[in-house]
Amino acid sequence: MGYSILKLFKVVAMTTSHWLRSHQFKNPDIDTDVVIVGGGYVGLSTAYWISELQPSLKIVVLERSHLGAGASGRNAGFLTKGSATFYKTLTDHWGSEKARLLYEFGEESVLLAHQKILKSSPEIKFEKTTSLTLFQSDAQKQDWGNGTFNPESFGFNWKSSNELPTSLQNSFFGAYENENEFRVNPIQVLKSLRMSLEARKVQIIENLSAFELTPHGVSTEYNSIKCKQVVLALNGYFPQFNSEFKKWIKPCRAQMLAVELEDEINSNSLHYDSPERVYWRKDSEKTLLIGGKRMLDEKAEEGDFEKLSPIIQSGLEAYLRDQLKVRYKVLHRWSGIMGFTEHELPILTKINSPLETFAIGGFSGHGMGFGFKSAMEMAELVIGKKTHSFFDQFKDVKITL
Ligand SMILES: Cc1cc2nc3c(=O)[nH]c(=O)nc-3n(C[C@H](O)[C@H](O)[C@H](O)COP(=O)(O)OP(=O)(O)OC[C@H]3O[C@@H](n4cnc5c(N)ncnc54)[C@H](O)[C@@H]3O)c2cc1C
Repeated sequence: MGYSILKLFKVVAMTTSHWLRSHQFKNPDIDTDVVIVGGGYVGLSTAYWISELQPSLKIVVLERSHLGAGASGRNAGFLTKGSATFYKTLTDHWGSEKARLLYEFGEESVLLAHQKILKSSPEIKFEKTTSLTLFQSDAQKQDWGNGTFNPESFGFNWKSSNELPTSLQNSFFGAYENENEFRVNPIQVLKSLRMSLEARKVQIIENLSAFELTPHGVSTEYNSIKCKQVVLALNGYFPQFNSEFKKWIKPCRAQMLAVELEDEINSNSLHYDSPERVYWRKDSEKTLLIGGKRMLDEKAEEGDFEKLSPIIQSGLEAYLRDQLKVRYKVLHRWSGIMGFTEHELPILTKINSPLETFAIGGFSGHGMGFGFKSAMEMAELVIGKKTHSFFDQFKDVKITL
């Protein structure tokens, strides 16, 4: 009874009252090998890889609301290596060689997700496409072109206006195109992961918040879960769980809008308009998803709770009218929480704490692209196959809880 009430109100439970209590554990104290806290794409992918690499380990995934309640169920479904501008920024900061390593990591992650997740659920929406990093003018491209970044050597190929789909030709000067990207329905991806995990006897517990780590495991409002290892996969919610994470991960809200198109757009790519800080794609012939424009209300968007920003939502609509020049009907508006880090690279590390604990999170806008292989790296740390993660070469993260 309690459970269905929770579902009805979509409660994001930190604590639950007696009236809304959803769990009546017969044996409240659970004993397992690994607890993964956070039921998003990254937490589930981490469970996937641990169970794949070491099937004998008992795994519990703990989610305080429902799977996909965080960014993983609210994103734009770009399963991509990211825009040319992202790799230009990384090259300007780290140099070409390191930026290339990151590109290859993203490339492998996207292909792995495609192979592994689609293989177990061929019916899910996982459409191969390209990404386009758009430029509105020659001046904009010239401005962008300063520096050592060579887009072609990263697999980004220039398309001038007349080579773009016809409905983009009047609005854009050209674009860098990248192949082997995917449009996904993120909820279907999570469902597919859930099915694989349940088949492997991974226990998924929803509507149960982890309160704190103890020397023996994780405590929640109803029980203590005894385990040998914990993986925290909390993305933008890390600082809420423990303030030690504040210096590494900043939670920021991001706005999304879904519209029904009244005019045709004949491009099925994933689009980035970096100077406008907008990303958009079609979800079906008539439906378009658009997000971004955080700079219109940047300060107000800092935080770890969802709400709509009228300023940003209007900015997204202005882009549809003035840049894409389409007529539309608004279908749905929503927001989600991203976990931002320095240089937008995730944190993937072992933590100093009495119980063996790991953190994976802070994926900024790239969690779908970078998340799956990052989760594999995390699984390798957990089972002791590796002592350092790929991302350690970019930053030295030291966290003590
Ligand atoms: C609007 C928006 C659009 C985006 N678009 C894209 C995109 O198109 N492509 C892309 O690659 N990335 C995109 N991203 C980023 C991407 O969605 C994230 O990087 C990715 O989903 C992070 O996954 P995660 O599992 O680490 O985090 P989350 O999905 O946030 O999962 C963390 C989970 O932890 C749970 N939790 C929190 N506290 C507790 C606790 N105490 N106990 C138990 N559970 C807890 C939360 O409920 C949540 O479900 C977007 C993000 C947003 C917000």
